[in-house]
Amino acid sequence: MSVLQSYIAGQWLGETPAKALPSAINGDTIAHTHEETIDFAQAVEYGRNTGVKSLLALDFQQRAAILKELAIYIQERKEELYAISHHTGCTRADSGIDIDGGFGTLFTYASTGRKELPSGNVAHEGPVAQLGKNNHFNGTHILVPRRGVCVHINAFNFPIWGMLEKFAPAFLAGMPCIVKPATATSYVTEAAVRVINDSGLLPEGALQLIIGGTGDLLDRLEEQDFVTFTGSADTARKLKSHPNIMARSIPFNAEADSLNSAILAPDVNPEDEEFGIFAKEVVKEMTAKAGQKCTAIRRVLVPAEHLNALAETIKGRLSNIVAGDPKEEGVRMGALSSSDQLRDVNEAIDRLLETSECVFGKHGSFKPVGQGVENGAFIAPHLLINHHPLKDGGAHDLEAFGPVATLMPYNGIEEALTLAAKGKGSLVTTLTTRDPAIAAQMIPVLAAQHGRLQILDAEAAKESTGHGSPLPMLKHGGPGRAGGGEELGGIRAVHHYLQRTAIQGSPTMVAAVTREYVRGAKVIENDVHPFRRHFDDLQIGESLLTHRRTVTEADIVNFGCLSGDHFYMHFDDIAARKTQFGQRIAHGYFVLSAAAGLFVYPGEGPVLANYGLDTLRFITPVAPGDTIRARLTCKRKIDQGRTSPEGHPQGVVMWDVEVTNQDDELVASYDILTLVAKRQ
Ligand code: NDP
Repeated sequence: MSVLQSYIAGQWLGETPAKALPSAINGDTIAHTHEETIDFAQAVEYGRNTGVKSLLALDFQQRAAILKELAIYIQERKEELYAISHHTGCTRADSGIDIDGGFGTLFTYASTGRKELPSGNVAHEGPVAQLGKNNHFNGTHILVPRRGVCVHINAFNFPIWGMLEKFAPAFLAGMPCIVKPATATSYVTEAAVRVINDSGLLPEGALQLIIGGTGDLLDRLEEQDFVTFTGSADTARKLKSHPNIMARSIPFNAEADSLNSAILAPDVNPEDEEFGIFAKEVVKEMTAKAGQKCTAIRRVLVPAEHLNALAETIKGRLSNIVAGDPKEEGVRMGALSSSDQLRDVNEAIDRLLETSECVFGKHGSFKPVGQGVENGAFIAPHLLINHHPLKDGGAHDLEAFGPVATLMPYNGIEEALTLAAKGKGSLVTTLTTRDPAIAAQMIPVLAAQHGRLQILDAEAAKESTGHGSPLPMLKHGGPGRAGGGEELGGIRAVHHYLQRTAIQGSPTMVAAVTREYVRGAKVIENDVHPFRRHFDDLQIGESLLTHRRTVTEADIVNFGCLSGDHFYMHFDDIAARKTQFGQRIAHGYFVLSAAAGLFVYPGEGPVLANYGLDTLRFITPVAPGDTIRARLTCKRKIDQGRTSPEGHPQGVVMWDVEVTNQDDELVASYDILTLVAKRQ
């Protein structure tokens, strides 16, 4: 029987079996935890010294590139993980949420990092604020890696996704991670960490694994460290108030159990397509992962007049669900992840029955299919009805972390909102309505109490990713009882792990620190046109002040004819006189085009393509007779390690453009994005 090993300070640790971990399918022992104690002082020291050093030897872009390679590597070996995941009671679809969802999150963060983070290890968040009248003193915000370790304490229900959704943003942020999976399913996490290790892609010290308890780890954390937690509200409370975490203000992000609701709006009738869509969503959430999802629907709010119709529809769907060993043909629902969970869920159902009646499950005949399943952690889906949901308690307070949902009848929208709020803060709610006015009325009220809201109608249902699926690009985490934390949400998650600091100084100093040209900073001017410089040679602040051009009426007429834009402001003198400008003015797009004509270098060169503009503003109007010029300055360089389709290496360069008039007034202001070739 195999003994799981921790991975601490670059070594696998553990030979002596301790706790037996049973299969959720048939009770057979899958593995043991190890008896050997972990030296947590060594683990944190190794993370802080070796881990931080090797991670910060790379920059944001390089770490993003590693995440992508890692995602590809895990994807190639995913079948090994599926084979192990089966023992946690998962169907193939359930395992997919954990495994494909896990490396999928790595892919998303690889791409988010490449697109939204700079080269280097200082992210300039901005905005730059001019603090002095003459622009000698500026302020802005930067985000930098903390010099500590990240401790991730995870739940049993997603042993791989739970690790990777936290690891990806922390890794991008340059933090070494010490991962503590829930013991019950830690054999799956251990297998995934072995795959990750085999890849050889991670820098030394980036990832450590704890099998078993955390010992004195939390006592050893310091101010630069970070803790994230997923699990029960009780444990979240306990760990959050750990004296060392409080005393040192160590950031603690919690994602705890949540009494999510789904609301069938009063406008939906049983004959509407949305009625069936709603029932299907409820059943899916009850049975996927056997209801062991933090996002699963626990409370189903239904207009009182449709209570019976909805109960019957859901019961009909539930009676078609075959439960058992997912290896058996036709099985759609697996087991709970352990016999401890089975006991807890049964106890929770008994307590829920003090306020509700059971209309499906408890008294039905339930026979999971498969060999040895009588020793597994199987349970029937349970549908309950609480006829007096305005009373506190019951399903508003108690989570049965399994395939259990409670129907709650309501009268009127206000009552539905009151019931939803009784969850005291939830991860997610689905509102099913056909009426945009109802969505516009209810969603802003629900938003105050929820982390995510899905509006589900027939149109959205065609492509809906589902009530229960947290997506890497959208925020995951809810207020109040849901833990008050925030995970995922694209680049936000990376920002959570970074330290945000306001900096103040002269524009030249601010530009030096942010590695980004700031208006007013010293520029570098030389005889070589900046467009003739390769990516490698260009310096931030390299700048060109162009010759001048006087704008004429002929320019305006020609541009209007060429573009077809005969807006009165450019062509109708009488109408233009009545406007705030008092005269005809040039097209803003003419000013842009004329500026390009002033600053481009026409010959073949390392600047390969202009792929867009950011932050464009037309500030002062340009009238016939005005004389304009442009200043083009290299603002930011990002090395994403990309090559052209022909294999030529290239980087992204952002240019700051200021177009001014004869009085040195700013006429137009924008950033241009270009691809610039590197030297061969
Ligand atoms: P717990 O809160 O007990 O455990 C969550 C994680 O915390 C596990 O890794 C656990 O490790 C660890 N842990 C527990 N106590 C400590 C401690 N004192 N110090 C350090 N780490 C600790 O949740 P369970 O996994 O037992 O699940 C209980 C309930 O939580 C479920 O029935 C469900 O209601 C809810 N839950 C919510 C989830 C969510 O995503 N929001 C997910 C899973 C569960 P170990 O396993 O070794 O005890």
